[in-house]
Amino acid sequence: MTFTTRFAPSPTGPLHLGHAYSAILAHDMARQNGGRFLLRMEDTDLQRCKPEWEALILQDMAWLGLRWDGPVHRQSDHIADYNSRIETLIARGLLYPCSCSRADIRAALSAPQEGAIPAVYPGTCRGRGMDSRHPDDALRLDLTAAFDVLRDADLRFEETGPTHKGHHTVTMDQAQKQIGDIVLSRKGEDIVAYFLASAFDDADQGITDVVRGEDLFAFTPIQVLLQHLLDLPTPRYHHHQLIRDDQGKRLAKRDDARAISKYRADGVTPDQMRSILSLPPAS
Ligand code: GLU
Repeated sequence: MTFTTRFAPSPTGPLHLGHAYSAILAHDMARQNGGRFLLRMEDTDLQRCKPEWEALILQDMAWLGLRWDGPVHRQSDHIADYNSRIETLIARGLLYPCSCSRADIRAALSAPQEGAIPAVYPGTCRGRGMDSRHPDDALRLDLTAAFDVLRDADLRFEETGPTHKGHHTVTMDQAQKQIGDIVLSRKGEDIVAYFLASAFDDADQGITDVVRGEDLFAFTPIQVLLQHLLDLPTPRYHHHQLIRDDQGKRLAKRDDARAISKYRADGVTPDQMRSILSLPPAS
């Protein structure tokens, strides 16, 4: 199978150093493997994603010398696909409606910009039937039911990144403690959770190798679960180190002083950018 990877930014701000590292690494791995490098806009958060941010990301990528294969894949064009997968999970009895705090649910739905796993849901609405669903309710995955359905499945994934290299198996105990019954959809706003949209798209785009920041390693088990529940293949994962400042502190993704456009305006060249990121020059 042709090595196929992707860069999947959320257009909610400028491309910053951390993004650039991820994009260049994925791009170079694809080129070294004679493979494909795809670009996906994770733009399901209709309030925070803006076309002008997307335009700037595309400009910055072109400036960095990163050419992607095929058209840009926009998640906002695929909401119907995600919703049909939600229907599949409903039909399998794996989702339940939840009316708990909208603020919590919104936080759980957005792409994990800062890598924070939403707090484990205490299960207040678990056990509610879909017939009690109110239009404003969110839909949560019933983890216990999901593991029951998958009791004979081989829930392994391979990690090739430096920190967690090797084979990992998703266990119910760990998923319940660390992830819980996550929100997969919120009715009425066509918003689909990052977990489902991204797992679905990785399969839809034929991704063989997911290259992304280490902060997302903790989300991988839930995506592996969803892949099995939806009959999708599990790619290999490569979680890379995060870019840190001189004091060793992780750079905030929202730090606009580290925006690539700022370096560009300051006269930094794409090759210097690679060297700032300790990445080899473009070949
Ligand atoms: N959209 C996510 C981000 O910008 C990346 C998700 C992924 O690569 O799986 O952090």
